[in-house]
Amino acid sequence: MAPWASARRIGYALVPRRWILAHITRSRPLSLALRKLVLAVPLVVGTGCEDIGGINIFSIQDDKDLGAQLADEILADPATYPILDENSYPDAYDALYEMRDELLATGQLQYADEFDWQVSIIDDDETLNAFAAPGGYIYVYTGLMRYLDYQDYFMGVLGHEMAHADERHSTQQLTKLYGMTTLLGVILGDDPGLAAEIAASLLTLSFSRTAEAEADSDSVYYLCETDWAANGAAGFFEELLAEGGTEIPEFLSTHPSSESRVADINALADELGCDTSLNAKADWQAVLDALP
Ligand SMILES: [Zn+2]
Repeated sequence: MAPWASARRIGYALVPRRWILAHITRSRPLSLALRKLVLAVPLVVGTGCEDIGGINIFSIQDDKDLGAQLADEILADPATYPILDENSYPDAYDALYEMRDELLATGQLQYADEFDWQVSIIDDDETLNAFAAPGGYIYVYTGLMRYLDYQDYFMGVLGHEMAHADERHSTQQLTKLYGMTTLLGVILGDDPGLAAEIAASLLTLSFSRTAEAEADSDSVYYLCETDWAANGAAGFFEELLAEGGTEIPEFLSTHPSSESRVADINALADELGCDTSLNAKADWQAVLDALP
């Protein structure tokens, strides 16, 4: 058993605000387990593995719990996240669910059956973004949907976001950013400020260059199994690059550059021999017509 595995079950207690506060105020019985974990982490880092990106102290259930918690917080804040009402726009959601299910059916996702895979549309035409919470909670803005000319491009972005969830990049990144600090904080002194910061950070978490590249290539693997252009995610970058000067969304981190991401996505699609022909524009327009 990996040295950190024994302390894994407490992982979920580290992040959601309510849980952290609950554990901080009655945390004594946890101390031994926490000490084990704190001791284990430097041991792993000390083996020469400088980048601990692959280590994840959270369990699959933690990812699902965290995602559900975050989804609740998003629902409770309609001013920031105006979720499009599913009952009022059933056709838009049906189209989105069909796209999600098509990607899940490719057999390329590790947690296709385990995760919740809840996709939501945020009704905000001014925001060119999409994001993924742990456990398969995916959010796409109407601004992003309207921006894209082809459904192939959108499928690429959707695949990219689903890959972030499936590869568990959020909890991997949280492990990397906060694991040690948080655990020391919990043991050595109560720090509700830090606890709140960690909970909030889930929404502003930026992924590593490696994680972005992985989500890009995963999207190619997913789409290659469908009738959509396998390099769809590259099309999104190309549209953005062609326009220039647009606000940079999450999936366009500065490193690697958009140009190199386009090249990498195209190269992988080529290498795998995937179909990269675009589908009819009119089909995507029908989806957009179902939006408000
Ligand atoms: Zn991304």
